[in-house]
Amino acid sequence: MAEQASTREAQVVVIGAGPGGYAAAFCAADLGLRVTLVNETHELGGVCLQRGCIPSKALLHVAKLLNESREAAAWGLRFAEPEIDIEALRGWKQGVVDQLSEGVAGLAKRRGVEVIQARASFVDSQTLKLEGPQGGSLRFEHAILAVGSVPAMPKLFQIDDPRIMDSTGALALADVPKRLLVVGGGYIGLEMGSVYAALGSRVVVVEMLDGLLPGADRDLVRPLEARLRKQFEAIHLHTKVTGVRAEAGSIVATLEGEGIEPEQTFDRVLVAVGRRPNSAGIGIENTQVVVDERGFVEVDEQMRTADPHILAIGDIAGEPMLAHKASHEARVAAEFLAGQPACFDKVAIPAVVFTDPELAWCGLTETAAKAAGREVKVARFPWAASGRALTLGRTEGVTKLIFDPETERILGVGIVGVGAGELIAEGTLAVEMGAVAHDVAETIHAHPTLSETVGEGAEAFLGSATHIYTRRR
Ligand code: NAD
Repeated sequence: MAEQASTREAQVVVIGAGPGGYAAAFCAADLGLRVTLVNETHELGGVCLQRGCIPSKALLHVAKLLNESREAAAWGLRFAEPEIDIEALRGWKQGVVDQLSEGVAGLAKRRGVEVIQARASFVDSQTLKLEGPQGGSLRFEHAILAVGSVPAMPKLFQIDDPRIMDSTGALALADVPKRLLVVGGGYIGLEMGSVYAALGSRVVVVEMLDGLLPGADRDLVRPLEARLRKQFEAIHLHTKVTGVRAEAGSIVATLEGEGIEPEQTFDRVLVAVGRRPNSAGIGIENTQVVVDERGFVEVDEQMRTADPHILAIGDIAGEPMLAHKASHEARVAAEFLAGQPACFDKVAIPAVVFTDPELAWCGLTETAAKAAGREVKVARFPWAASGRALTLGRTEGVTKLIFDPETERILGVGIVGVGAGELIAEGTLAVEMGAVAHDVAETIHAHPTLSETVGEGAEAFLGSATHIYTRRR
């Protein structure tokens, strides 16, 4: 279609329709502002919905079912090995994505948010150039920049071979490789590694640091790592990939680490070594916006950049690069533009790794407390003492609470175990509200549920948890 050279006007333009951008556009519209939402592709929802959180969770659900069907033999239930119809699986995953994406488009329409499909770049602090089917230019009073991030792909892996994949490629599920190399033992490496292992791939994870999931407490990583080591062919820590080359039937990787076979062949490689903000190529240099050395846009607590007409939210505005952080920043930005008092001063942004078991934490970790030299008290509730965990056949979990020793305030919560991603919500609320040990201990947790591990964790801190014996001091 020929581009139209029209000039549009907007009170607020939001650039990028991910979980940050569409939340900002909707909130601003709800607050009475005239909003235009510009997105490069026709489909709304951004990386999270289109090729991130949502499709990966659909696949992880399938992985969990596959694993459970295999493990149920121990409970006297024997299933035949499931037959995997990969095309139907892809179709189901896409159906979930499409339904949500259409839902977002419908919500935009009902709110009167004008949606423009175009690639936007700044001409100056109040003008955007729009390229695409609805091209032209757009003058605005305020812009909210929410253009997200892309997978980092180190040069070493840029050999122009479709068997070298980033998270988008892995989610496309072209096939189930016999042997898959996963580079990076972070969120994506472990989540997508779990999916492929359940589907039948022999998965080898290579992590350059000496532990998986940097940032998470080691005692919580341990039960997850133990289970993953059974599901994966190997996890190599402190190991580097120093080269990859494409051959007709395989990808040959050169690996450097203690006791590792230095040259190994794989059918596919997933590179999951982090993401980088999308701050290049959007004309930021034509504005007063300041970008730091890692490519993140600098913002204050109102999500304002150094340019009075431009705000920024989500991955482009700094770590952690998590959808729920973006959508909370979105509300702050929209409220600020509507003249309301607003400030992003959250004390707890939950992090959830959707492996099996899941690993979740919020607020202060024990690792961060140690690094900062901050004195804390830690209470742990092992799931071996939870009746509910026992009925699930999953007692490897641990719930831990981190307290200020003087005020007894809960500073952080960490959980590893099935459903940890749901359970962490109580911890996040406790930390955000400044709850103390008694608040959580005196909250009645339904029996038998895994949530009791949070309540009993607080009881353990206070000296008497029903299901674990603590020696009297
Ligand atoms: P990550 O930062 O979680 O993990 C990257 C890992 O790769 C780290 O452990 C790092 O030490 C390692 N690494 C870096 N360079 C390496 C190299 N050359 N060789 C071997 N290992 C190397 O990044 P990710 O897994 O790519 O995910 C990117 C981001 O996406 C995450 O940080 C997170 O913000 C987001 N994400 C979140 C979720 C979730 O919330 N469940 C899921 C997926 C992605």
